[in-house]
Amino acid sequence: MQQPSIIRLLQKRGVSLVAIDEAHCISQWGHDFRTDYLKLPSLVKSLGQPPVLAVTATATHSVAQEIAHLFDIDLDNQIRHSVNRSNIAYDLYQASDEADKKTQLLAQLRECQKPGIVYCSTRQAVDQLVLLCQREGIQRVSGFHGGMTPMERILIQEQFIANQLDVIIATNAFGMGIDKSDIRFVIHYHLPASIEAYTQEVGRIGRDQHPGYACLYVQEEDVHIHHRLFQNEYPTDEELVAFLELLRNSVHASDSVVLAREGYEQKLTHEELFAAIGIGENVTRFLFYYAQEAGAVRSVQLGKSGYTYWFQPHDPQVVLATMKQRIQLVKRSKYAKLGNMQEWIQSSGCYRESLLAYFGERLINNPESCCRACGINRTLYLESTKPERVAQESAWNLQEALERLLPHRPSNEGGTASL
Ligand SMILES: [Zn+2]
Repeated sequence: MQQPSIIRLLQKRGVSLVAIDEAHCISQWGHDFRTDYLKLPSLVKSLGQPPVLAVTATATHSVAQEIAHLFDIDLDNQIRHSVNRSNIAYDLYQASDEADKKTQLLAQLRECQKPGIVYCSTRQAVDQLVLLCQREGIQRVSGFHGGMTPMERILIQEQFIANQLDVIIATNAFGMGIDKSDIRFVIHYHLPASIEAYTQEVGRIGRDQHPGYACLYVQEEDVHIHHRLFQNEYPTDEELVAFLELLRNSVHASDSVVLAREGYEQKLTHEELFAAIGIGENVTRFLFYYAQEAGAVRSVQLGKSGYTYWFQPHDPQVVLATMKQRIQLVKRSKYAKLGNMQEWIQSSGCYRESLLAYFGERLINNPESCCRACGINRTLYLESTKPERVAQESAWNLQEALERLLPHRPSNEGGTASL
């Protein structure tokens, strides 16, 4: 969607439905905001406002409202299913230290029914745990993180889907787009950054409706990993100042006549940005997004080599203050979500109940094997008690999938849309 030629082609051919998966990524206050998603509302408009189907498994009420507002979706057309997954048991393991966590992980990987996923917060931890498994003779385990080549990642995903691997030890880069119904466990080796991220990751368990097991390892120090990651995710004040200076310095004096009138088209490569400010692509993406919002640039296009944008004359102090304020707000929201996650692990009652409460839902019935507080029937999840299951493979059918997603709804030519 970065390519104007693709958009022109879509406009020419016509689009009858825009389906947006992981729609929560459009929320700036959400746990997984992607700047590219914010281009979607104007894209939909430019396509003549076809019906929009926006789907997500992790939207609080406020995020759902934000999505509906951005796509002009009538709230009557919002369909909410319960986030309660009664076939998943929510366990927590209070670890005394790192060595204790490793011992527990090895024991659970040996005991638990597979396949399963172990989530870590850092690539380094993924590599270390894969090595540990290899040393301890646990086979059919592979790592997965964003530092691997696309080919490596595709291969590992395919092997996992084809049951050639039992366990994937991964960062949160793993999972989106993986359609595997028989995942039996998800272990969080580190604290997830938000309840939404946790729910999304454990939601990959047991889509075949058979019992599944989620276990979150709790160690106080893990919260500092997120503090470090957050710091790298957003620019410092110095980086912000350097970025704005770079934008201004890229405009040549000879262009000043054009500049004074209506701005000037500029280009900055990834290398130039990195050499001048020393920041990675993710941070740059945020900087351009907020610079655009603050009026310093417009029409930002991200290409393979870098950015093309329209520089706009602006008051540097005003832009700096606006961008600082916005970045602060987003950071604060991120810390608040981490705080919610920390509160959840300290729940005094049923963990399922407080998880549902976070999404504005009330728990009606507790399953027999519910959570750490209510009790878990651990034998259900052991390899030694694995029942014989008949594979329920069937061809994926769009019509059936849509009927499951949108039950009891008459077809609406005018444009049904849901969350
Ligand atoms: Zn419970």
